[in-house]
Amino acid sequence: MRCDEGCGACCGVAPATETEYRRVERYIEEQGITPMAGGDELTCPFYQQGRCVVYPVRPLICKLFGHGELLACERGYNVNIPERDVDRMVGANGRPTRVLHELLPSASPESIAQWKEDLKGWGSGKDWSGRSP
Ligand code: SF4
Ligand code: SF4
Repeated sequence: MRCDEGCGACCGVAPATETEYRRVERYIEEQGITPMAGGDELTCPFYQQGRCVVYPVRPLICKLFGHGELLACERGYNVNIPERDVDRMVGANGRPTRVLHELLPSASPESIAQWKEDLKGWGSGKDWSGRSP
């Protein structure tokens, strides 16, 4: 699907399973990547200079943006796949319990706690598009 370089509208608080979180953690150590605070508190710390710097190990939810009703590209480039396939992939991937902002040392502990609390509603039909989990 089409995606505009430098857009980053999808790159907010990224939910991750424990496995996905550890994979990103390991990758940034190996690659010498520093998580960075973005233009606002919600910007993913790995959206840097207009691109994802952890692209090869990004969580499943990042891969699904623009492909599901509840994960819409706000610029309208959606190439949706059947919701049952989205559900199957998300189900097989496991429940996200982490947010990538936990890897940003300057992130607010209160915000992280709230975002993780919000993850308890995962699978309830909540719209996960945009910049809030
Ligand atoms: S909103 Fe659309 S164009 Fe922008 S980063 Fe997300 S998928 Fe790409
Ligand atoms: S991990 Fe990459 S694709 Fe996912 S929200 Fe962060 S910058 Fe965007």
